[in-house]
Amino acid sequence: MKDAVIVGGGHNGLVAAAYLARAGLSVLVLERRAEAGGAAVSFRAFDSVDVRLSRYSYLVSLLPRKIIDDLGLRVELRRRRISSYTPVGDGGLLVDSENTAALGDAWQKFYAMTAEVAEKVFPTLTEPLPSKDSLRARINDDHAWNVLFERPLSEVIESTFADDTVRGVVLTDALIGTFAPADDPLLRQNRCFLYHVIGNGTGDWDVPVGGMGAVTGELARVAQAAGAQIVTGAEVTSIDPDGEVTYRKDGATRTVSGGHVLANVSPQTLAALLGETSEAQPEGAQLKVNMVLRRLPRLKDSSVDPRDAFAGTFHVNEGYRQLATAYEEAAQGRIPSLPPCEIYCHSLTDPSILGPEEQAAGYQTLTLFGLHMPARLFRKDNEKARDEALKATLHSLNSVLAESIEDCVVPGCIEAKTPVDLENELGLPAGHIFHRDLSWPYADEGQEGTWGVETRHDRVLLCGAGARRGGGVSGIPGHNAAMKVLRSR
Ligand SMILES: Cc1cc2nc3c(=O)[nH]c(=O)nc-3n(C[C@H](O)[C@H](O)[C@H](O)COP(=O)(O)OP(=O)(O)OC[C@H]3O[C@@H](n4cnc5c(N)ncnc54)[C@H](O)[C@@H]3O)c2cc1C
Repeated sequence: MKDAVIVGGGHNGLVAAAYLARAGLSVLVLERRAEAGGAAVSFRAFDSVDVRLSRYSYLVSLLPRKIIDDLGLRVELRRRRISSYTPVGDGGLLVDSENTAALGDAWQKFYAMTAEVAEKVFPTLTEPLPSKDSLRARINDDHAWNVLFERPLSEVIESTFADDTVRGVVLTDALIGTFAPADDPLLRQNRCFLYHVIGNGTGDWDVPVGGMGAVTGELARVAQAAGAQIVTGAEVTSIDPDGEVTYRKDGATRTVSGGHVLANVSPQTLAALLGETSEAQPEGAQLKVNMVLRRLPRLKDSSVDPRDAFAGTFHVNEGYRQLATAYEEAAQGRIPSLPPCEIYCHSLTDPSILGPEEQAAGYQTLTLFGLHMPARLFRKDNEKARDEALKATLHSLNSVLAESIEDCVVPGCIEAKTPVDLENELGLPAGHIFHRDLSWPYADEGQEGTWGVETRHDRVLLCGAGARRGGGVSGIPGHNAAMKVLRSR
């Protein structure tokens, strides 16, 4: 009997394990894969080069300073000076985080508003859930509340910004891993946008030095140092609401009981493990492409150094109208003809993920995140659709470069991951990077004061991205599930 059995060793499971073990509880983490970390891992993806890529997630914004301090994590998150670059014709839009004045009044005012909201909302994410009214009172800005929490994001974007490129740059934060139009009445895009602008009260997205695996490696170290046991290669096959967990390890079936069972798996997977049916039908919607380059490509815009353009988020065909067209094409079941995507180069900010020879040779890594690539496009024939999506995406990228990206890639050093790949490799339901659509950071009616991790079984809690206020590399659901356990003792 353990005090807590954690099903899944993603970064959230490790955060929960670390908090609970440090409080003196006996903790067992069961992870299906050969290594812990889930979607937050580094990987030597290509045999021919010594490069450890953040294979899935790559930037950190939502991991609270509080968790880093509480757990004494030795992680370095490095700020990117260039926030973004968007090529337009033979020129482009460079957003330098130290000089946003150049972007005009509307930009300044809009992001001053989101910054105020971020300062008020972010500290609440590691507290019990506030009611909708109390969160609104805390924000104390009716305009901000209405445009971010009540009305489709399209309205504030269209009324605030006139330029199609600027509108698109703002909208992309609402579409990461989220298949929705700008005017979606369900407001999924608003929730996605909110989580993209509130991280640590600033919304900055930082580079984890050493790659994402360095963050998870540190979490595993801290959890183990406190006494948590992490068993990899252990696939959980069922969970009993009374706390009994059955898993397969090395071909044998075993059981273990937990005072609490913390599920780091998606709510859909948890339902299946409990023998229940799940109403949620999440769908991921992105193509992730990893590349190692001999050198950065030349740009059509000769006024910008590629080292600046690729250091921040490099937007490709993400104009407001282009995003709408891509959404419509994908909704009709086609791979977008000009896939919108965004890219950044980790190795410019942190070359430590390159081996010494690769550093000396001037190699660089490129991470590409393509939008509006829903799982439904890949269900029939994943291999064929993956090839087609990659081809269309590289064509889209090449349309804004002065030379073809293929001429810069180290031979063989390119891989693409579709939502179906992510489902197969990581168990993400339909490849949804947040386990399910993101939720508002306040309680449903009557749930005020809960942690957003509860299920209908007292002993079973969610501790992963699918919890309320989950999603992204944040550790927040792991923290909140641990707090729920500790405060109920
Ligand atoms: C391509 C991609 C890019 C992303 N980019 C970013 C980014 O840049 N920044 C950011 O903040 N977020 C990003 N995200 C989202 C973020 O990575 C996830 O939301 C987050 O990692 C989820 O963490 P988790 O610990 O809750 O779950 P997961 O990482 O999904 O971990 C769940 C774990 O449970 C294990 N498991 C599943 N089933 C079983 C079972 N039956 N038995 C035992 N173990 C099981 C899995 O193997 C996995 O290790 C990205 C995600 C993807 C896929």
